[in-house]
Amino acid sequence: MIETEKILKKHNLRLTDGRRSILDIFLNNPVALSHASIEEKLPNFDRVTIYRTLYSFVENGILHKVLDDGMASKFALCHTCHDHKHTHQHVHFKCEICLDTTCLEKTRIPSFVMPDGFLAHEIGLLVQGICPKCSQKN
Ligand SMILES: [Zn+2]
Ligand SMILES: [Zn+2]
Ligand SMILES: [Zn+2]
Repeated sequence: MIETEKILKKHNLRLTDGRRSILDIFLNNPVALSHASIEEKLPNFDRVTIYRTLYSFVENGILHKVLDDGMASKFALCHTCHDHKHTHQHVHFKCEICLDTTCLEKTRIPSFVMPDGFLAHEIGLLVQGICPKCSQKN
């Protein structure tokens, strides 16, 4: 069975053209992707289908939203999530040169002490700088 089918099956999602195509893009790209860049790669699908598919993947623990300094959110593959529970607390890195955002799976977000009355549900940490690929060019 191909990887895409395996992932959809594991998360109890039916295989559709849209789901397969979108998931394939993520499996072939090691970086976080925005809605717009997925639209560009899939001109045959309308924006609503892409939007719904992305959000159903987030709900099912296949993708997670990635904090970005731009206007649009980006999405990246989850490797250890099950169903509705996203268990990762990793740092994201955005390169100032190529603008790629990467999951640093092994770099954990430190824990914070929240002031009284503030209940944290989600913590996103974006580090900006120069990625290894771009620093080699100089
Ligand atoms: Zn996740
Ligand atoms: Zn870079
Ligand atoms: Zn990530």
